[in-house]
Amino acid sequence: MFSLHFYSAKRSTILYSALNDYSEYPDLRQHNNCMASNLTPAIYAKLCDKTTPNGYTLDQAIQTGVDNPGHPFIKTVGMVAGDEESYEVFADLLDPIIKERHNGYDPCVMKHPTDLDSSKIHSGQFDDRYVLSSRVRTGRSIRGLSLPPACTRAERREVERVVVDALAGLKGDLTGRYYSLTQMTEKEQQQLIDMFCEGFFTDVANDFPPCRHNNEKTFLIWINEEDHTRVISMEKGGNMKRVFDRFCRGLKEVERLIQERGWEFMWNERLGYILTCPSNLGTGLRAGVHVKLPLLSKDPRFSKILDNLRLQKRGTGGVDTAAVGGVFDISNLDRLGQSEVQLVQTVVDGVNYLIECEKRLERGQDIKVPPPIKQFK
Ligand code: ADP
Ligand code: MG
Repeated sequence: MFSLHFYSAKRSTILYSALNDYSEYPDLRQHNNCMASNLTPAIYAKLCDKTTPNGYTLDQAIQTGVDNPGHPFIKTVGMVAGDEESYEVFADLLDPIIKERHNGYDPCVMKHPTDLDSSKIHSGQFDDRYVLSSRVRTGRSIRGLSLPPACTRAERREVERVVVDALAGLKGDLTGRYYSLTQMTEKEQQQLIDMFCEGFFTDVANDFPPCRHNNEKTFLIWINEEDHTRVISMEKGGNMKRVFDRFCRGLKEVERLIQERGWEFMWNERLGYILTCPSNLGTGLRAGVHVKLPLLSKDPRFSKILDNLRLQKRGTGGVDTAAVGGVFDISNLDRLGQSEVQLVQTVVDGVNYLIECEKRLERGQDIKVPPPIKQFK
């Protein structure tokens, strides 16, 4: 009698705790993102009651991936950090996601390299008949302030204050002007929309300040979009080497100016630069071109070729847009475990290969799927 009673009491404890740990587990059966592939009920149960020192929870971190099951071109991550500590507190979920997303990079044992020496890039000039524009961007986060998914209005204003103050120190060809969303005229806003597409303004909330750019409009900083800062170098045509030169020079200068004012970027050895989306950890670097590939993009091998070259395709209006007229935004897929120089060289070599394929198809010749670029061991 006693033992039966004991048994049922134990059983109900198990049922009770099961309800506690698993009853909030999201329905991910129709999902195709890295979070959905890695969030087991056991990991959910382990992490669901944890919070970062700023109070950010697992449910907040995965909400984007619960709401957005998949993407037509990209296997999205489906999870965002709310602060620097998110990557430690939710490491049981984030580490395997990071490994899946960054070509096998193991954040538990590997160290991330940084190299901003653009003189090492070779063959960085694309054929301008195919490449319409070239761009390199990264993000940087200010240590001590929550990231955009979780930051307060006051923190957002602090990010703006710190960054705008630092940027005023940029000199020479990097000198520019800051356009605050609350202060710009409608005409200025329209000019920025023409440059960056409408989505940029509709995505951001009312008091998000947008951007600063140099007089040439080739070096830009966005503030408080997906990341505290996005640093962008871009120009028309196919001179990726020059774009990367200006990117490295400007970024180093921005970092110096921020540090001079007593702030620093979020960074650690295992994850590199810390950004909102785990897909951007490491370098945060996306080097991309708008390139015309009308024949290759209709070839059934196109996706396989991109995968093997570790390249990603987007539409030309940005990540959530479709390609128009065979023009795609082609960029590096990985950001972590390889340096900036290595990733830009991957894009240079890969895009040159794609253009070569396009030319072969124009001549009626066959193309080959290149062997896959190696995974991290
Ligand atoms: P990211 O996250 O790297 O900023 P998005 O896909 O969100 O990229 O696109 C942001 C904006 O940048 C979009 O308006 C897009 O059209 C523009 N853009 C991206 N790559 C290029 C490029 N190579 N040339 C011109 N514009 C670009
Ligand atoms: Mg973006």
